[in-house]
Amino acid sequence: MDAPLALILLDRELPDATGVEVLAQLRADQLTENVPVIMVTGTERRDVLTACFTGGASDYLRKPFFGAELRARVQSTIDRQRMLVDLGRAAHVGSLTGLPNRSLLHLRLQHAIDQQREHTNYGVAVMFIDFDRYKLINDSLGHEVGDQLLPVLAQPYELATHTVRTSASVGIVHSSGGYTQSDDMLRDADIAMYEAKARGKDCFVIFTPFMRESVHNRVLLENALREGIGTDQFFLAYQPIISLETRRLHSVEVLVRWRHPDLGLISPAAFIPIAEETRLILPLADEVLRQACRQFVHWQREMPELAPDYISVNLSRVQLADPSVASRTMAILEETGMAPHCLQLEVTESQLMQHRNMALELLTVFKCHGIRLAMDDFGTGYSSLSCLQEYPFDVLKVDRALTENVSRGRGYSALLHAVMTLADNLGLEVVAEGIERLDQLVLLQALGCPLGQGFLLARPMEAQAFLDWACDPAVASEEAA
Ligand code: C2E
Ligand code: CA
Ligand code: CA
Repeated sequence: MDAPLALILLDRELPDATGVEVLAQLRADQLTENVPVIMVTGTERRDVLTACFTGGASDYLRKPFFGAELRARVQSTIDRQRMLVDLGRAAHVGSLTGLPNRSLLHLRLQHAIDQQREHTNYGVAVMFIDFDRYKLINDSLGHEVGDQLLPVLAQPYELATHTVRTSASVGIVHSSGGYTQSDDMLRDADIAMYEAKARGKDCFVIFTPFMRESVHNRVLLENALREGIGTDQFFLAYQPIISLETRRLHSVEVLVRWRHPDLGLISPAAFIPIAEETRLILPLADEVLRQACRQFVHWQREMPELAPDYISVNLSRVQLADPSVASRTMAILEETGMAPHCLQLEVTESQLMQHRNMALELLTVFKCHGIRLAMDDFGTGYSSLSCLQEYPFDVLKVDRALTENVSRGRGYSALLHAVMTLADNLGLEVVAEGIERLDQLVLLQALGCPLGQGFLLARPMEAQAFLDWACDPAVASEEAA
C-alpha cells in the first residue's frame, strides 16, 4: 500500500463476518489504526450504533443513501481527521522551529528505552546539545531576537561561504546506566551538558553518576539564594584602596557577603555566577547598591574627615545587558541622597567584550550622570589596549595576576610600566589589585603605581571594623609596612 488511506467505508452487514469484527481488526493493525472509518448500516438501533462507535468508527451512514449525502459525510470526516492530525502534530512540534518537541522526544525515547530493556544487544544514547552563546543572545538582545535565531540554528550551516562562530556544549548519556524512564535519561544528559559548559564550553562530556551531586549542591544553593535575597543574610564588606605614596585611604571597593543560617559564609565566587544565571543578581545588586550608598552617606555625615572619596561597586554582566539598570541606579542614588560622583562602577574586561555596543551606550549614560567608571581585572581578558580609549573609564584596576608577577622578572615589571604609562597618557588612575607581599608593594612604588588594594594593605572589612581601621590609619600603615 503506497499512498496512505484517507478513509474506509465499511458495511456493517458483510456476508462472511460482521463489520464490527472487521472494524476491530482495522483498529488493531498499525497501517489502519488511525484511518477514519464510516460504517454503513441498515439500522439505526442504539445498540448497533453504540457497538460501531465504541469499536472506533468515526461516523455512520444509513442505507439507502444518495451520492450527495455520501460525498458530504466523506468530506466532513476527512476534514475532521486532517484537523486532528494537525492538532496532534502541533502537540509534538515546536511552533518556531518545526522540529519535534520535548513531548515527542519523551515518547520516542521511552519507546527506545523499552525496546532496549527487551533486547540485550540494543543500546540507546542521548546527546544533549546546547548552543553556547544562545543564552547570551537572549540575555542581551532579548528573547525575540533569540527566537529568531532558533530556526536558523535548526538549519544546516553554510560553512563554505560564512564563518560560523557558534559553538556547542554536548552532554552524552548511555542506556547502560540502567534507565527505565526517559525523564531520568534526559535529566542526566542535561547534567552532562552543564558539566561540558563548566569545563569551558565547546566540548562534550559523558555522564557519570557523581556529576549528580554537584548539580544537587547547585540546586540547593540556587534555592537558598532565592530565599535569602531581601533578608539580612547579605551584608557588605569594604576593602580600602590606598595611595601607595601617602598611604592614605583613597576609596573603598564594596564586596557582597552571604552568610546562610545553615550553610555558613559562602564566597561570592560561588554564588555570583548562580545569581547571574538565574538573574537573581538584579534584585541583589540593587540591594548591594542601596546598602552601600546608605553607608557612604552615613560616613560622610558622621566622619567626613575619615570617609573615603568614593565607593566602588561591581557591576555584573547581567546588569550590563539590562535596559533598566541606568534608571534603577539613578533612582537608588536619589533615594539614598548619594552624589553620583561619589559612586564608581566596576566593569570587567570580559564583560565589555561580551556586550561591546550595549556597554558603550550604557557606560556613556552613567558617565553623563557623573558616575565614575573603572575597568576591573585588567590584564585577564583579551581586549586590546585601544579599548581603554574607546570607553569613558576613570580608573584602571590591574588584575592580581599581573601584580603577582611584578616581582618575577624585568619582563613583567616592564609590562606593568607600559600599562601605567598608557593609563597616565589617557588620564586614567591606576589601582594595582591583590597586593599580598612586601616585595610587590616596594616594586609597585618604585614603578610609580599611584594606588593599591590587597590583603597586605587591608582586607575587606565590615562597616564597624572598617571604621576602626579608618580611625587609626597610622597603625594600619605600620601593619602594612
Ligand atoms: P573582584 O571584583 O576582583 O574583587 C576583588 C576580590 O579579590 C575580592 O574577593 C577580594 O576579597 C579579593 N582580594 C582583595 N585583595 C586580595 C589579595 O591581596 N589577595 C587575594 N588573593 N584576593 C584579594 P571576593 O570578595 O571574594 O569577591 C570575588 C569576586 O566576586 C569579585 O572579584 C567580584 O567579581 C565578585 N563580587 C563581589 N561582590 C560583588 C558584588 O557586589 N556584585 C558583583 N556583581 N560581583 C561581586
Ligand atoms: Ca571588582
Ligand atoms: Ca578585580
